[in-house]
Order: sequence, then C-alpha cells, then structure tokens
Amino acid sequence: MVDGGTAGTPGRSPRSDEPARPGSGQRALVVEDEPELARLVGSYLERDGFEVTVVHDGLEAVARSREVDPDVVVLDLGLPGLDGVEVCRRLRTFSDAYVVMLTARSEEVDTLIGLSVGADDYLTKPFSPRELMARIQAMLRRPRPLGHAAGGLDTDGGTSLLFGDLAIDLDGREVWLEDRAVPLTRTEFDVLATLARRPGMAFSRRQLIDAVWGPTWVGDEHLVDVHVGHLRHKLGDAAAEGRYVRTVRGIGYRMGRGE
Ligand code: CA
Repeated sequence: MVDGGTAGTPGRSPRSDEPARPGSGQRALVVEDEPELARLVGSYLERDGFEVTVVHDGLEAVARSREVDPDVVVLDLGLPGLDGVEVCRRLRTFSDAYVVMLTARSEEVDTLIGLSVGADDYLTKPFSPRELMARIQAMLRRPRPLGHAAGGLDTDGGTSLLFGDLAIDLDGREVWLEDRAVPLTRTEFDVLATLARRPGMAFSRRQLIDAVWGPTWVGDEHLVDVHVGHLRHKLGDAAAEGRYVRTVRGIGYRMGRGE
C-alpha cells in the first residue's frame, strides 16, 4: 500500500521541552473510505499533534465538518454518499479549512483544477504519508506577517495594507472591501497577501507557488489561476482581469491599486 507505516520515530513519547509540533492544537478531518489508509493518515496527523476525526463517507464529512470546524481536511475524491468534489463545494460555503484532495489518477487533477472545486492542493494515490505531511506542514508554516518576523515592532495597525477601497489585515487575516468583510479561504488570502506585501513586483506562477504552497510543491501551476479567479470573483473583479489582482502578460500576476 502506501509507503511509511510505523517507520520513523515509533513509540517516541512527546517531551515537554520539544518545540511545538506543526499541528499542535489544530484539528484535522480525514475523509477516506479505505479504512486502512484512513487509519494510516490519521496516525501521521496525530503524531504531528493534530486532533484527528476520521469519517468514511461524503455526507458524514460535511456534517462532521460543521461540528469539528477543522483546520485541515484530507479529502478522498472517490467516496460513497457524496464524492469529494461535492464535499469540497459544500465545505467551502462555511469553512476556510486547508483542503488536500486525494485522487486515484494524476489525470484527474487537471480536471479538478478546471472544475474550480476549491481544494488547496492535490495528491495522487499511491502517495507517501510523509509527502502528505510535508505539504500540510508547508501550508501551516507559510510566512507570517512581517510584524511577527520583526519581533512584534509593527503595531498600531501597521500590518494593514490599503489598495484603494481594499484593506488587507495581515495579522488578523481579514480582507475588507468598501468596509465590507470579504470571506476568503486560507489559500486565497495567502495568494493575495503574497502579492500585496510586494506591490511593485510581478510574480510568476512558480514564485507564487513557492510562497504559498512551498518550494517542494510539484504539479500544474495553473492551480494559481484558479485561486486568482476565485479571488477576483470575491473582490468583485472581472474574471479575465482585476483591479486588485492584475495579469502581467507572459509573467503572472501583480497587485493593482484598485483603479
Ligand atoms: Ca475512495
């Protein structure tokens, strides 16, 4: 089956002087109808400090998501009840959880990216649980606002960025458009914040992937376009071009001032 099993650090008990594990205090939901794979993924997440809930079908996944309010969802595409695409769509109506979708064939990923289902990342089976954990950890370690890196010197709202009528609160991870809160997923926020922190810079898709998904991410870079499309929609921009997220032809994207 999948690589890994209990290799690594079996039986090691957590010690109080260890640094906080990436998932400490966070909740993960595993949605997978193969019991052995669900158990394995769950055990890796628990080892990383997550509070794990495992469910085996799509309808249950949506119901439990409302109760658990997970930070991370590992979601199989092929499920009894509702399939992963529909679960993700429903999840997105009330959750900004980080969603990694598991697919049986790599060709499915292109289709899923085209469908704009709203997953943050994709992994094709069979995969290594370590690869899955590395992707989740990369997401959870995404660069935090500069104010934190500088030792908290940046106070008095100094981590808010303004672009015309658009305000981005980097610390609070909130976005306001004309005094109206704009609900973004984690990935949408991180794409926007990456562009906004360097407003003069045109980012290639690969540079955005390095910043948001992590430099080890491998896959179809048009995943970026899908998240930009969602962002533009939520910011009230035209699908093809945005006032805030602007296309730089032949390169990628840069921040606009809302004009
Ligand atoms: Ca399945």
